[in-house]
Amino acid sequence: MKNIFIIYTGGTIGMVQDENGTFVPFDFDLIQKNIPDLSRVDYQLTVHSFEPIIDSSNMTPAIWLQMAQLIRDNYDRCDGFLILHGSDTMAFTASALSFLLEGLQKPVILSGSQLPIGEFRTDARENLMTALEIASTKHNGVSVIQEVCILFDNKLFRGNRSFKYNSAKFEAFRSPNYPVLAEAGIHIKYNFDALLNNQQEELVFHDKLDNRVGVLRLFPGMRLETIQAILESDVRSIVMETFGSGNTTTDPNFLALLKQAIDKGKIILNISQCKVGSVELGRYETSQGLKAIGVCNGYDMTFEAAITKLMYLQGEFGDQDSVAFWVEKDIRGELTIND
Ligand code: ASP
Repeated sequence: MKNIFIIYTGGTIGMVQDENGTFVPFDFDLIQKNIPDLSRVDYQLTVHSFEPIIDSSNMTPAIWLQMAQLIRDNYDRCDGFLILHGSDTMAFTASALSFLLEGLQKPVILSGSQLPIGEFRTDARENLMTALEIASTKHNGVSVIQEVCILFDNKLFRGNRSFKYNSAKFEAFRSPNYPVLAEAGIHIKYNFDALLNNQQEELVFHDKLDNRVGVLRLFPGMRLETIQAILESDVRSIVMETFGSGNTTTDPNFLALLKQAIDKGKIILNISQCKVGSVELGRYETSQGLKAIGVCNGYDMTFEAAITKLMYLQGEFGDQDSVAFWVEKDIRGELTIND
């Protein structure tokens, strides 16, 4: 009998309304009571509830490490993992876990819902049951999914390619820079060409994250003083969200500030404010100077992947050169190199 490990962290899926009508997290029994079918599945379920269960806006790197540790501790005896999680920061958690769990050969599926399990029109039941089905699917004894994914509204996405784009629709997630991995209708149709297949035999569990990461989201008219304050803050790296295909102002004073920060050992990672497409350094004059001063190319990475990849690399490497080298490489299917 297959064994699926469920990690319950909280989120809307298991929430109830308190006396003021505000949604607050509730325990896993509520989910079980509302989905009697859970006792009819033909695989064994082991449930681990986090304490406390949380709205995912309270997620932390420390909890990511606990989740990764739980998966590692139960990896050999389980066939797949399902993490029930609030949708708000689900893409950050999925991205972080993809970096912490190297060489996965079993599915780690995150899911949740937009409406609580107790509501008539809830999307929770469908999401949970489809995620379970995917977490337990094997072909010839080998897991079909061997990576960290998000299952929402009948679509399976690569975790480190997704982001929450809609807080009002059941279709909460998208991954415009990477194809959907599977779609559930009457049958679950896998997009086999898009799936990660790990050749690595062993799971390598990484247990450090360094969150000294900052963000510089550019806008026309941003003051140099503001930019300088961000660049000089106590971080090892900065995700710089640029215009279009990786463009910025060509103001020499701005470029001088970036260069000064890089010379002092800061890593500046260029990702685009656009949700679709990639950074293409040198395509326009407005990105040419960035390459020359040593800004790193984030290609088509999501913001969530960029942040968590830097935390992971900084946890792994004490030296900035290694972080700068690896951040531009595709290490878990999180980016596509286009040059
Ligand atoms: N605020 C909730 C959370 O992220 C939203 C959700 O679960 O969809 O925990």
